[in-house]
Amino acid sequence: MTLPGLDVSTPLMQQYREIKARHRDAILLFRMGDFYEMFEDDAEVGARTLGLTLTSRNNGAAAEIPLAGVPVKAAAGYIKRLVERGFRVAICEQVEDPKLAKGIVRREVIEVVTPGAVMADDLLEERQNTFLVSVALDGGGTRAGFAAADLSTGELALESVEAGGGALEAALQRYNPSEVIVAEGAAALAPPGVLVTRREGWEFDVALASEELARRYGLASLDGLGLGAGDALAVGAAGALLRYLGELQPGGLPQLRRPVVRRAEGRLFLDAMTRRNLELVEPLRAGAQDATLLGVLDRTMTPMGARLLRGWLLAPLTDPTAIAARLDAVGSLVADEPRRTAIREALDGVRDLERLGAKAAARRATPRDLGALRDSMGCLPRLEALLGDLYGLAAGFDALADLAAALAAALVDRPPAVLGDGDVVRPGHTPALDELRSLRDGGRAYIASLQARERARTGIGSLKVGYNKVFGYYIEITRANKESVPPDYERRQTLTGAERYVTPELKAYEAKVLGAEEEISRLEERVFGEIRDAVGAAIQRIQDTAGRVAAADVLASLADAAAAGGYVRPEVVDAFGLEIVAGRHPVVERVMPREAFIPNDIRLDAAQQIMIVTGPNMAGKSTVLRQVAQLVILAQAGSFVPAREARIGVVDRLFTRVGASDDLARGQSTFLVEMSETASILHNATRKSLVLLDEIGRGTSTYDGVAIAWAVAEYLHDHLGCKAVFATHYHELTQLAERYPRVANFNVAVHESGDDVIFLHRLRPGGADRSYGIHVGRLAGLPTEVLERARVVLRSLEAGHRVAATPAAADQLALFAPAEHPVLAELRGLDLDGLTPREALDRLAELQRRIALGGEG
Ligand code: ADP
Ligand code: MG
Repeated sequence: MTLPGLDVSTPLMQQYREIKARHRDAILLFRMGDFYEMFEDDAEVGARTLGLTLTSRNNGAAAEIPLAGVPVKAAAGYIKRLVERGFRVAICEQVEDPKLAKGIVRREVIEVVTPGAVMADDLLEERQNTFLVSVALDGGGTRAGFAAADLSTGELALESVEAGGGALEAALQRYNPSEVIVAEGAAALAPPGVLVTRREGWEFDVALASEELARRYGLASLDGLGLGAGDALAVGAAGALLRYLGELQPGGLPQLRRPVVRRAEGRLFLDAMTRRNLELVEPLRAGAQDATLLGVLDRTMTPMGARLLRGWLLAPLTDPTAIAARLDAVGSLVADEPRRTAIREALDGVRDLERLGAKAAARRATPRDLGALRDSMGCLPRLEALLGDLYGLAAGFDALADLAAALAAALVDRPPAVLGDGDVVRPGHTPALDELRSLRDGGRAYIASLQARERARTGIGSLKVGYNKVFGYYIEITRANKESVPPDYERRQTLTGAERYVTPELKAYEAKVLGAEEEISRLEERVFGEIRDAVGAAIQRIQDTAGRVAAADVLASLADAAAAGGYVRPEVVDAFGLEIVAGRHPVVERVMPREAFIPNDIRLDAAQQIMIVTGPNMAGKSTVLRQVAQLVILAQAGSFVPAREARIGVVDRLFTRVGASDDLARGQSTFLVEMSETASILHNATRKSLVLLDEIGRGTSTYDGVAIAWAVAEYLHDHLGCKAVFATHYHELTQLAERYPRVANFNVAVHESGDDVIFLHRLRPGGADRSYGIHVGRLAGLPTEVLERARVVLRSLEAGHRVAATPAAADQLALFAPAEHPVLAELRGLDLDGLTPREALDRLAELQRRIALGGEG
């Protein structure tokens, strides 16, 4: 690579330094010809991160300047890697033609790419949003306003959140943000690993932000957006967000749509742990994408459908009417297989309307992108015709016919990936362009005729007319025929075996044709720009249609999953009870042979508010517990459920917790974490909530664990009155049912024959009488001696620690105290007055002997 001198005092380095001064927190990619160069610290970081060779220029006496570069052609991959590691990358381009530049070429940063602000396809997940979320907190830290933007789709959402105890974090995590903006000094709520960008406090100013929003969207007041008095923080957050994005995208943000105000009301609240434990969209073990609820359910045909389905699963509804509307729509498509298939076929041709539209608005769409838009729009009339009464999508459906027609008229069938790489504009669209093209193409015929004429005139059969970039058109004649060259030929270039000439006629022709080529590319660029901008100006319409297409896609996908999986329509009502008949775990049943999964019934209601599920390891406790949660989420999201029947009283919050040692993925899991999570449930659950606790208390010693689980269950029963399922291998907890009327015992059945245990995976009433760890140890192949010894130890532990049978004991801990020795009872019962001294001595001796023997009573 050749570089001009990098002396710090050169104009180039001065230009670099000026630009870099404005982008100190970014890695600056400085365009120089076919390379992006990084200098100084950026070069060092870049070389290390990207595995590039670090070079340096020694400028004599002056400093050595480290430098590293990447080819422009391969830059996307490098930018992606930098951004994935949390860097900001400022892309500085040459903004004038180097040939026309006087002195040093003008350069400008045209874009700063950050983890939360990406537009390029290579940096985006097709089926997920990339959100940048700005967070404004009030002084107390219990209220927050969010503004979330996805640059690639043009989505902008505002949300106000109010609640303590981790609710703010939970609400933020629902966006799965790639980057979070907060004011200097404010608490960063961002999940670990997410880039936090700090901005000055005044940028969150509400008055400034209101002005900016009103100006940007041409509004007299913000009332039209549906913002209320409680949304001031969210407005402030939006102000900071827009200012930051404006800096990152100096070209403007035309793709950003009017903000949509999101309300937490009407949504089933799922905290981050619950989403994770239930593997709703993300598997606990990396790479097991199919092992998520989304993985099982997602049969969407379009990327925006996939993104919407994810959103529906992460924020199910709580209004039975709204849920019923979705279920009706899904139901109609389950029942009508031909229509469902037809809709999915129509969707098959629809590409990412939402992102393509945003790209057009941001003037980033390529000819191929516009072609994809045209083809997608072409599928809309068919889709529209199939919508019928589906979810109210047809009313006001805009098939974008005018845009489709304009694109169809303007673009060739297969537009090139980039402008300038072949014809973009369809013949017949722009008369001036057609004329120029016929001049250019007519030229080919003309060259052929010229060649024939000159061959005849000179008698040289091998004479040919050619073209190259440096010399333009020429006539080539082999050296052997040099003698026959006519006098009007003018020599241009000598090759080893041939000479190249021009003639006045050829020169005149060349001027005309080259002029045409240039004119053609200029005109194509203009026509393409016009059509792209026309499409971009219709962004709001395109996005509205994209939203309807996405909804149709999600509904058809849910219907398809329901039909394939044999799901039923749940009845979702405003009631307390929850009843599932022959329910299945949607994910677990997938990894088994058909019919191998054992369905189970669940009933929770005012009479049976808490279920304690006991049973040995591997019996299926966790499976049945998660199944309840997943079915509730599916039903409230508007999906059919894997069950024979399901009646679900809407739940306002759903919590699941997994005892610390069961939570493999977290690695350094601690009992403290488990307890603080449990605390947050107890603070946030209401009577309408559903709490699912799996092996809670497991992270500590048995008695601690049992005691805590016991106290939590009591609290849920007496204070919160919510529905709950406990899965536990502590069979001690079965005693809860004896003391509390609304607690019921269940166990997951196993069949024992001799020392063998067969897992039936069937839930049945009643508590397990003991744990079966030793049986599992046997299944796992522990040596016989170890198993035998374990059995002996277990027996003596059980004898010494048997739980008292008397529920009357006021002190709960007494429940777990060792049972008293039978000898004591006998002593107490002795009628001393009825004994002779001799008899008394005999009895004493006997009792002493029995105590000496141990607990054999
Ligand atoms: P536990 O929590 O009681 O230790 P799990 O719920 O983790 O047990 O279940 C262990 C395994 O048993 C599961 O991975 C699954 O393969 C199988 N299993 C659980 N429930 C069922 C069921 N209802 N039908 C068939 N197999 C099941
Ligand atoms: Mg378990």
